Amino acid sequence: MVRVLILGGTAEAAALARAVAGRVEVVSSLAGRAGLPDLPGRVRVGGFGGAAGLEAYLRAEAIERVIDATHPFAARISAHAETACRAAGIPRLVLTRPEWPRWPEDRWTLVDSVAEAAARLPGLGRRAFITVGAGEVAGFAAVRGVWLLVRLLKDEPLPLADYHVVTGRPPFSVEAEQALMQAHGIDVLVTKASGGDATSAKIAAARLLGLPVLMIRRPPPPAGDSVDSVAAAATWLEGL
Ligand code: NAP
Repeated sequence: MVRVLILGGTAEAAALARAVAGRVEVVSSLAGRAGLPDLPGRVRVGGFGGAAGLEAYLRAEAIERVIDATHPFAARISAHAETACRAAGIPRLVLTRPEWPRWPEDRWTLVDSVAEAAARLPGLGRRAFITVGAGEVAGFAAVRGVWLLVRLLKDEPLPLADYHVVTGRPPFSVEAEQALMQAHGIDVLVTKASGGDATSAKIAAARLLGLPVLMIRRPPPPAGDSVDSVAAAATWLEGL
């Protein structure tokens, strides 16, 4: 069987591992910061030590194919995968996640970074729902005059002026997102343009409530061949 490394940490990576397990030999790689999902095959956890470390791993483990199914905002690991696979001569496919469709009634303000979102936030609301992940939330430290409801996987103290943490793990329902926003009097949502079904409910809830959304654009996509569905990635793997 062909030995495949799936760079994961996303719902799509887990779905792909489950879809192809048994037909290819799957090794799933996780950064390890968001807990360990139940996955078939082998699972390895933690960084490789940059592109050179990843290249050494690919060679040592005799990996024959790589799927980059990481998050659209995980730009470093994707760049490392491109470099390492090129150096080791290993075919690589990027499994991208479609963007959320924008409806006519959506009130999105698109920005290029967390810093820009933080700068624009006071002009859009007084009670913000922040859903950018633990790694980025410190970017709102300088915000004043806006109460922040921050959703994280686990509760932790944050370097923010006026905030409350709510914990949760996707998927979320539209009803629950709407109820959460209403219960806290939220008047603006802040999110990355992550796309995907698991976290799309907050976008629908903001639409239904008529709330503005500060939407942080994705970094440029990784170079190379890409598909945008788990089924297409499975076909690529099994067809090689
Ligand atoms: P990143 O900035 O691109 O990666 C930072 C470093 O973490 C990488 O250089 C690498 O360390 C290590 N790493 C990242 N993904 C890895 C993986 N799948 N396996 C092994 N090592 C990995 O990415 P990030 O934003 O920290 O995201 C980390 C993981 O969480 C990714 O797997 C991503 O799919 C997932 N995730 C990210 C977000 C987000 O918004 N960024 C949201 C949900 C899930 P070395 O250089 O030492 O190899």
